[in-house]
Amino acid sequence: MSVPDPVNAARTDSELEWVNRFARLPEAFYDRPLPAPFPGAACLATSPDLCGRLGLDPAELAEDPWLGACTHGSELPGAEPLASVYAGHQFGVFVPQLGDGRAKLLGEVRTSQGETWELQVKGAGPTRFSRGADGRAVMRSSVREYLVSEAMAALGVPTTRAVALFGSSLRVYRERIEPGAIVLRAAPSFLRFGHFEYFHYNGYSERLQELIAYALAHDYPHLQDAPDPVAAMLEEVIARTAEMIADWQAVGFCHGVMNTDNMSLIGLTIDYGPFAFMDAFDPGYICNHTDQGGRYAFDQQPQIAQWNLIRLAETLVIYFADATREAAIERAKALLQDFQPQYRHAWLLRMRKKLGLQTPQGDDEALIQELLARMAAEGVDYTRFFRQLPDLEQAETRSQLESELEDVGAWQAWWSRYQARLALEGQAAGERKAAMNAVNPKYILRNHLAQAAIEQAEAGDPSEVLRLQQILARPFDEQPEFEAYADLPPAWASGIQLSCSS
Ligand code: AMP
Ligand code: MG
Repeated sequence: MSVPDPVNAARTDSELEWVNRFARLPEAFYDRPLPAPFPGAACLATSPDLCGRLGLDPAELAEDPWLGACTHGSELPGAEPLASVYAGHQFGVFVPQLGDGRAKLLGEVRTSQGETWELQVKGAGPTRFSRGADGRAVMRSSVREYLVSEAMAALGVPTTRAVALFGSSLRVYRERIEPGAIVLRAAPSFLRFGHFEYFHYNGYSERLQELIAYALAHDYPHLQDAPDPVAAMLEEVIARTAEMIADWQAVGFCHGVMNTDNMSLIGLTIDYGPFAFMDAFDPGYICNHTDQGGRYAFDQQPQIAQWNLIRLAETLVIYFADATREAAIERAKALLQDFQPQYRHAWLLRMRKKLGLQTPQGDDEALIQELLARMAAEGVDYTRFFRQLPDLEQAETRSQLESELEDVGAWQAWWSRYQARLALEGQAAGERKAAMNAVNPKYILRNHLAQAAIEQAEAGDPSEVLRLQQILARPFDEQPEFEAYADLPPAWASGIQLSCSS
C-alpha cells in the first residue's frame, strides 16, 4: 500500500502552508468541481478560535482571494478544490454513490503549531456527485451548522469546526424560496465511513487499499507500525465513536441523521442537519421530522452507532492481518462487541460527574437511571435540571421545583438516596457545585435561539448569530447579561419542525 507524499506546498498571504494530501490520491477519489456564482457574497461571521488556530486573520475572509475562493470558486493560491466521492447507508438502505454533492474541499493547511486542517466549503454549488440537486445550502441550515460546530467544541464534544459563514443574494428553492449561504468548515479529516463503503461495495479493492493506507498515514499514523494496523484502526474508530456518543447522550444532543455517510472516521460529530439539544427530557425524542420511524431517536443513538461501525468493519475486515478470513471476522466481531461496554463506561463516567459523584460506587448506574426515569416522567428540562441540581440542596429551591412535579413522593425518595450517596463523597458542597457547573452547561443552542438568529441572518443581519456565538463559546460560565438565553423555550418553540431539507 503506497502513501502519497505531501507535495505542492504553497503559502498564501496569511502564511498558511497548503499540503493538499487528498488531492494527491488518484482521480477515482474525487471530482474537480467548476466555480459557481454566489452573487453579493459577504462574510457574515467568523470563529475567533478557529481563525486563531489556523493563523488566519478574520478580515482576510471578508475579501479576495479568500472571499471569492470560499463563495464562487475563484483561485486561492495553494488551494486545489475537489469534491470527494463516497457512498453510505441512508436510513438503513445502501446508496452506492453519494459524495460531496455540495461540499468542496479547498485543500489542507498545516499551521505553525504543526496541526493539519482540511478546509471545506459547504453550499458552494454543484459537483459531479450532486445527483441532480443544486449543490446549495440554505441560510437556516448554514447558521445552525456554523453555530453548533463551535458550540459543540466549547462543550468539549468532538466535532468538525466552523471557520466562517457567508451570505449572498442567491435564492435557493426548497419548500419555499430561501437565501443561500455557505459555511467554511474545518476538520483534521473529513473522511466518513461512506468513503470506505463506496470502494468496498463497488468492488474497487485496489482503491480501497489506497484509501486505507491514506487513512492510516494521515489520520492514524501511530498505528502504521502496529502488528495489525487495519484491525488497530477499527479498534480506535470504535473507541472514539463510543466516546463521542457518550458525549452526545450526556449533553442531550440528538444528531437526527446518523447515516453511515455522516459518520466520521476520526470520531467527530459531522454534518449537522436536523439536530437538536433536547429541551424536556424524553429518551425517545426524534428531532428529525423526516424520521417517522424514529430510527435516529435520542435513545437509539448508541446502537445505531454500533450498527454503523459494523458497516465500516465489513469494508475493513479483509485487510486484517489474520491468517484466515474466519479468524479476521471473529476478531472484528469481538472488537465490535466491545462498543457497548465502552460506551456505557464512558457514559457512566460523564453522568457521575453531572451528579457531582467523584468516586465510583456499585449503585451509581441505578441511581442515575432512576433519576432519568423521573425526569422523563415529569418532562423536566434536561439542561436546566442538571445546572440547577447543586442548588437543590437549598430547601427553598427544592420546594420550588417540587411545586411543579406530579409525583413529589417519588422525587423525594430519589432525593434521599442521592443525599445518602453524596455523603459518601467527602467533598464540600461549594467544591462540588463548581465541579458540576464545569460539566453541566448553562447555555446550549436550543432550537428557538437558533431560530431567532436565522430570521435575522435571512434579513441580512448577522448580529444575533454573533451574539449567540459569543455566549455559546462559554457554555459553562454564568453570563448574567445573557440570563434569558438560558431560559426554558417559549411555547412556540415546540412548533419548530426540522427535516432533512437543508
Ligand atoms: P446530508 O443530509 O447533508 O448529509 O446530505 C446527504 C447527501 O446528499 C450528501 O451526499 C450531500 O452531498 C447530498 N446533498 C444534500 N443536499 C444537497 C444539495 N442541495 N445539492 C447537492 N447535494 C446535496
Ligand atoms: Mg452528509
